[in-house]
Amino acid sequence: MKGIFPLDKFEQLQTPFYYYDTDLLRQTLRAIGEEAHKHEGFVVHYAVKANANPKLLRIIREAGLGADCVSGGEIEASIRAGFPSQKIVYAGVGKSDWEINLGLDNDIFCFNVESIPELEVINQLAAAKGKVARVAFRLNPNVGAHTHANITTGLAENKFGIDMRDMLRVIDEASHMPYIRVVGLHFHIGSQILDMGDFEALCNRVNDLQLELERHRITLEHINVGGGLGVDYQHPNRVPIPDFKAYFDTYAKKLRLRPGQTLHFELGRAVVAQCGSLITRTLYIKEGQQKRFCIVDAGFTDLIRPALYQAYHKIENISSDEPLLAYDVVGPICESTDVFAKQIDLNAAHRGDLLAIRSAGAYGEIMASQYNCRRLPQGYMSDEI
Ligand SMILES: *Cc1c(COP(=O)(O)O)cnc(C)c1O
Repeated sequence: MKGIFPLDKFEQLQTPFYYYDTDLLRQTLRAIGEEAHKHEGFVVHYAVKANANPKLLRIIREAGLGADCVSGGEIEASIRAGFPSQKIVYAGVGKSDWEINLGLDNDIFCFNVESIPELEVINQLAAAKGKVARVAFRLNPNVGAHTHANITTGLAENKFGIDMRDMLRVIDEASHMPYIRVVGLHFHIGSQILDMGDFEALCNRVNDLQLELERHRITLEHINVGGGLGVDYQHPNRVPIPDFKAYFDTYAKKLRLRPGQTLHFELGRAVVAQCGSLITRTLYIKEGQQKRFCIVDAGFTDLIRPALYQAYHKIENISSDEPLLAYDVVGPICESTDVFAKQIDLNAAHRGDLLAIRSAGAYGEIMASQYNCRRLPQGYMSDEI
């Protein structure tokens, strides 16, 4: 055993694979529960798109979180994992009819609606079933998040949500639709956010919009502020659990809820990122003219974040205690972007060594593909192997 990994057990498994530390996941979920429940009316959902591994979903459901879905497939996965449909919210700019019907048939808590054409379709489909759909409008708050450009979602230029200046108009339109009931407002400004000032800016925006609603004597059941809390990719050992206290306290301090109103959160990355590692085996060490390559059997088909977002993941050679050497860690896929890290220090690596690519529990396994006809990686739980 080196560090936190059961190497002897890993030797029996086919690499690459995902390894999930379920103790850490449970501790993380406890921290979320403790910090959120200090504040009245806070309701936490898990953003299923971060990782829909059925075993992880069950652990998260057992901790009492709801499910935030962005597709019919995620609604199905959530129901299979035992999430009560009254705790399922469904967002997405392009909901197709079967997905809306699935939500209606299951009487989900809320559709987070991103346009008037979508609202009209939900009204029609609900009418055909004689049901009333509960909806929240996803507003674009035009609040920037200081994160990678590909993962900001709350700016006017992004495709998500309805322009906040249209809030009253869309609520008025909805009031004429007999199969629609407006129950909330929804926001989500981006991901991997570590600056509480960004969430504070969202709170200020929500406060302004609520004042505008008040002037028109409208009170909604709930406000949903989405997710986006980041994790420490540099220091997965030192900071395994994100600062949920700072996160929930920011909202408690800055966002003014109306009496009886609930505040909903949709956390994805912060729940699952740190509990997961991608374990990969060293195939070859190639000494180049200027570089030393560590060629491993995982590629961007297993973990696409470095190729897609230039994301950093800490990498450790868990088989070696030898002195450090600099490597580019690369995968086998026929694309130049198939690189996990450049010029990083690893304990001297040899064919057969196992590397752990850390903080890979979110947007890892779920984004895996079969490009190059590769097999999908398996996911193993620490309490099962
Ligand atoms: C992706 C997403 C989330 C979760 O984001 P994280 O950064 O993983 O917390 C929450 N809500 C919506 C609507 C999303 O699209």
